[in-house]
Amino acid sequence: MKAAVLEDVEKLVVREVPDPTLAPNEVMLRVKAVGVCGTDLHIYKGHGNYNLDGRGRQIPFAEQPQILGHEFSGEVVEVGKEVNDLKPGDRVLCDQGINCVSRRRQDLCKYCATGDSHQCEFYGEHGITGLQGALAEYIAMPAPNCLRADGMPMDLAALVEPVGCVLHSSERVQQASTRYTFDGDNRIRNILICGAGPAGIYFLQYLRNVLHFDGLILVSDLREINLDLVRKFGGTPVNVAQQDLREAVQELTNGEKIHYLIEACGNSIIFEQMPSLIRKQATVLLYGHGHQGRDISVLGNILFLEPAFVAAVGASGGFDPDGRPATYRRARELVSTEAIQVAPLVTHRYKSLEEIPRAFAQDFHRKDYIKGVLCLD
Ligand SMILES: [Zn+2]
Ligand SMILES: [Zn+2]
Repeated sequence: MKAAVLEDVEKLVVREVPDPTLAPNEVMLRVKAVGVCGTDLHIYKGHGNYNLDGRGRQIPFAEQPQILGHEFSGEVVEVGKEVNDLKPGDRVLCDQGINCVSRRRQDLCKYCATGDSHQCEFYGEHGITGLQGALAEYIAMPAPNCLRADGMPMDLAALVEPVGCVLHSSERVQQASTRYTFDGDNRIRNILICGAGPAGIYFLQYLRNVLHFDGLILVSDLREINLDLVRKFGGTPVNVAQQDLREAVQELTNGEKIHYLIEACGNSIIFEQMPSLIRKQATVLLYGHGHQGRDISVLGNILFLEPAFVAAVGASGGFDPDGRPATYRRARELVSTEAIQVAPLVTHRYKSLEEIPRAFAQDFHRKDYIKGVLCLD
C-alpha cells in the first residue's frame, strides 16, 4: 500500500510500504479521513519524537521511519476472527491509543483499571510512538479502539479525536483541587485562552456551549482569520500583533487578572508574561507543546503566585462496558450535535496522500491555514 512516511526530520515521502497484517481482535480499515495536527508538525520538524526505546532514548526517524496520522476515520474492509461486533462496510472513528484492552490483557494494569488508560503501562499511540499512523491507504486497529461513526461525514469523524483531547483535559481541570471553580464561592469569572488554533477554538466552544460559562473569555492570537472564529464562537479576541497581552488583560479584566488560563499556543513567551496575566492561585492548564527559547528560571516569578498547574491529557481514558473509549463517545456526541463545531476550522482539504508533504512543507505556515484534513472518501 501507499503511505506518507517520515524518513527523517522534514523528509516526508509518499511511497510503497508493506500492507498491515490483521490480528484476531483487529479490523482492517480503508482510511477515509485524517486530520493533520500541530503534534504532527512538531514531529515533522524534529521538535518532538515520541518513539522511545526501552531506555527512554529517542529513536531517530532515519532508523525507524514514522507513518504519521493519529486523528482518523475509516471503513472496515476485513475483520479478524475474534471480532463479532463490526463488519465490512461499517464506518468508524478511532482511538489511536493502544492499552490493555486493545492488547487483550487479562489483567488490566493499574492505570487502565482506574480509567486512565492514556497512561497504560503498555501504552502506544498509532502515528506517534512508532506504531503505524493513518496517513496510508490501510490501517489495522483493535476492534475496541473503533467507534461507530454511521451517518457522520468521515472528515468530521476524524476530528472527534482533538475534540476528545480538549474535553478530557477540561474534565481534568474540573477534577483538580483549585481555588477557582465553575461553581461554588470562588467562581471563575474570566478565562484567557492563549492561542486561537483548533484547540483554542474547541476550548472556547466547550466553555460556552457545554459548560455554559457566561463570563469573559479572552482568546489571544496574531492571525486575524483565527480571531474571526473567536468572535464567531463568543470569545473576546486579543490580537497580540497589535496589543501587548499583559496590557489587554489588565484593561479587559479591570485589573482583576485571569482566574483560569489555558495555554494552547506552545509559545514560551506566555511563561515570561504569566506573572502579569494571572491572579494568585489561578488555574493554569498546560495544553500546548513546544515552548522553546526561554530559560526555565522564568518559573521563579510564577511559583510565588501558587497557580494550580494541570497537565493536559489526550482523548484516551476510561472505557465503556464494551471496552470502547468513553471520552471519544462523548466527544463524538459533541461533534455530531454541533455543540462543538469542527467544520468551520477546516481550511485545507487534501484529496490524495501525494498532497500531504505540501501540507507540512508549506500550508502549515500560510496565513489562511487553520486545519488541514486528508479526505479519501
Ligand atoms: Zn492531534
Ligand atoms: Zn493498561
